[in-house]
Amino acid sequence: MSTSLEMKNIQKWYGALHVVHDFDLYVQPGEFLTFLGPSGSGKTTALKMIAGFEMVSSGDILLGSRSIADVPPYERGIGMVFQNYALFPHMTVAENVAFPLTVRKVGRAETEEKVLRALQLVKMVEYRDRHPNQLSGGQQQRIALARAVVFNPSILLMDEPLGALDRNLREHMKIEIMRIQKELDMTVVFVTHDQDEALTMSDRVAVINEGRLVQVADSKNLYYSPQDRFVASFVGESN
Ligand code: ADP
Repeated sequence: MSTSLEMKNIQKWYGALHVVHDFDLYVQPGEFLTFLGPSGSGKTTALKMIAGFEMVSSGDILLGSRSIADVPPYERGIGMVFQNYALFPHMTVAENVAFPLTVRKVGRAETEEKVLRALQLVKMVEYRDRHPNQLSGGQQQRIALARAVVFNPSILLMDEPLGALDRNLREHMKIEIMRIQKELDMTVVFVTHDQDEALTMSDRVAVINEGRLVQVADSKNLYYSPQDRFVASFVGESN
């Protein structure tokens, strides 16, 4: 079941570098929200704070009504997919997908059942005994996706998940990701610098420039009513 996600007055400094300025954002349960911005604008840092990989410098992140700081990591219900897949090379596909269940000490029968279901979801059941280096990039990303959703997360975070794939595969995976989100009823926060990806996949797009949220709106509004010149030129680049 999906949950809401809220960023309240979030600031992030790396030393003297202020990389996230005053993020205020409410993501509805089941919403597909995308952080869209140029390289270095702070998208990944924002996502890492939601994932709990980076501490916020100030402000609060809420999952439903609970502050993330009050929820132990494995109870947060957050799955994550990276651009470079980050699969464990020495493990089989099935072992990779099982990993989040192993660390949560889920029993063997339940693990087997959930791994099978996750592999069915990404249409990779017959690859279960292979190793990552025996798979194509697109197949590896499917396995990474299966691993991210195997424990039924309520929020799925994706950092440029299509960035390493060629154009045809990217189009296909876009549709697959949207299907899986609906099937599993998850809130998705997606990061990309690709305008077309953002506009076609998201319920709303949060445009980021130099660490600031410039405009948060659906594709139509962004396209026809850009808030400023940055949004107009950056979003317009997809056409
Ligand atoms: P994006 O994902 O939009 O490309 P990032 O969030 O990766 O942007 O980076 C935002 C800014 O923070 C950049 O200037 C980057 O160099 C800097 N940055 C990112 N991670 C670190 C870090 N661990 N230490 C210091 N600076 C960092």
